[in-house]
Amino acid sequence: MPQIKKILILGGGFGGINVLKLIQKKFKNESNVRISLVSKDNYFLYTPMLPQVSSGLIHPSDITIPIRKLCKQAEFYQATISLIDLKQKLVTITRTFDGKVHTLDYDYLIISPGSSTNFFDYKNIKKHAFVINTV
Ligand SMILES: Cc1cc2nc3c(=O)[nH]c(=O)nc-3n(C[C@H](O)[C@H](O)[C@H](O)COP(=O)(O)OP(=O)(O)OC[C@H]3O[C@@H](n4cnc5c(N)ncnc54)[C@H](O)[C@@H]3O)c2cc1C
Repeated sequence: MPQIKKILILGGGFGGINVLKLIQKKFKNESNVRISLVSKDNYFLYTPMLPQVSSGLIHPSDITIPIRKLCKQAEFYQATISLIDLKQKLVTITRTFDGKVHTLDYDYLIISPGSSTNFFDYKNIKKHAFVINTV
């Protein structure tokens, strides 16, 4: 029996989805590779058009794609990543819909959870600014 290699992708944004597409293409129809993707949102967000959403030109659904549609050969977990144990190769996630905690093991890990806004210690900007990075 060939050993199954587990590839785990964290984050369903530009980084995670691009890696997903490349890996699915490379390992198309290969049964000894298991691909999983975890993201807290169940959609991919096309951020460059967020300003058009905020100004009412287009609808949020115009810039979101369900991640499950992109998972041709991968399992999708809509969940929050709470712990990455690199030594034991384990990732702890909390499922969004029922709050259940799961531990996923992997052979290869792709970490792409994005970033948070840096206000460079300008407290008033942080307090009063509207950050445009989610729907
Ligand atoms: C308004 C706006 C306009 C932009 N325009 C451009 C542009 O024109 N050109 C350009 O090159 N770049 C642009 N960018 C930047 C671009 O969006 C980022 O560089 C890109 O999204 C980074 O990709 P990423 O995969 O690292 O992170 P993201 O795309 O942010 O993806 C991170 C993913 O990880 C998930 N995640 C994070 N934390 C957790 C957690 N704890 N548990 C589970 N899931 C988690 C998130 O839900 C998300 O799916 C723009 C950004 C914004 C906000």
